Amino acid sequence: MGTPLNSALLSQLDHLPEGLLTVAPNDVYRVLAGPTLIHLPGRDQRPLFVSVLQHGNETTGFLAVQLLLQKYERRQLPRGLSIFFGNIEAARQGLRRLDGQCDYNRVWPGTAAAELPEAQMMQVIVDEMARRRVFASVDLHNNTGTNPYYACLNKLDHRFFQLAVLFSRLVVFFVRPKGVQSAAFATICPAVTLECGKPGQRHGVEYALEYLDSCLHLSELPDHPVPAHDIDFFRTVAQVHVRDQVTFNFQSSAADLILNDDLDRMNFTEIPVGTEWGTAHNGVMPVLATDASGHDVTDAYFAVNEGKLILTRKVMPSSLTLDERIIRQDCLCYLMERSSP
Ligand SMILES: [Zn+2]
Repeated sequence: MGTPLNSALLSQLDHLPEGLLTVAPNDVYRVLAGPTLIHLPGRDQRPLFVSVLQHGNETTGFLAVQLLLQKYERRQLPRGLSIFFGNIEAARQGLRRLDGQCDYNRVWPGTAAAELPEAQMMQVIVDEMARRRVFASVDLHNNTGTNPYYACLNKLDHRFFQLAVLFSRLVVFFVRPKGVQSAAFATICPAVTLECGKPGQRHGVEYALEYLDSCLHLSELPDHPVPAHDIDFFRTVAQVHVRDQVTFNFQSSAADLILNDDLDRMNFTEIPVGTEWGTAHNGVMPVLATDASGHDVTDAYFAVNEGKLILTRKVMPSSLTLDERIIRQDCLCYLMERSSP
């Protein structure tokens, strides 16, 4: 084993600071000075790695971790646990990220922005967890639009599928965006990203808590296929952005693109060709769809017909949101197609 590396941004602790188990997400900054990686021992030494608050407004994972740690406050954890508390500053403001900050879940090893101090921090975390022979990795997120619970993976490996279906029968494979946590950890252990519905919902917190507790009790991840009847598997075929120069809203006020205000009802529903997404100026394509290689594939999925933005191919969207800030900071949605694992 090499010596641990360091990052100026990151604090590493081997204990729980006073107050962490009860503090509200927007007050975590009072307890943790900034991004923090906490290592806790357990009966089985190979740790489970969990990351929360990579996006400051996505609080379900943090709240679930608090409940998990409360449960084990006076007894030994079944397995070592290393927890990364990510964007504490954005959590203070209740935002995905602050203006001028990078997106924490786009700067892990594999990112195009490896020179950023945040990217160096993520590299240190991956190296440290490799050194500790990490057992599995779970990155917890929320959606801002209405979505079912689902798991994402970045590597087609039975153990990854097993870790995913423990959370949901809905499993999504993607290779873009680059620089996400689960793709970085996929090189050293089974890794998933979990989407736990909207933030602030009690059921999501309890569901995530139960999942994490189950992971702590796993002695190993089976390396055989998940039975076909236990999984609905989708591959992401495109990521959709509103083009930078295009103004948009959901309120039918003046803008280049006026999106339907019930768009997020289409998440995880197979949408027929011809479905309208909103109103756009004739002849101007307001959205940009890119495939796994980053190529522009907009024409394969969308057209503007008589001032309506319409879908031209049967797909299933995910992560559609009605939050205009999130659409600018992240994307409008992903498009998926059903596949076999
Ligand atoms: Zn997120």
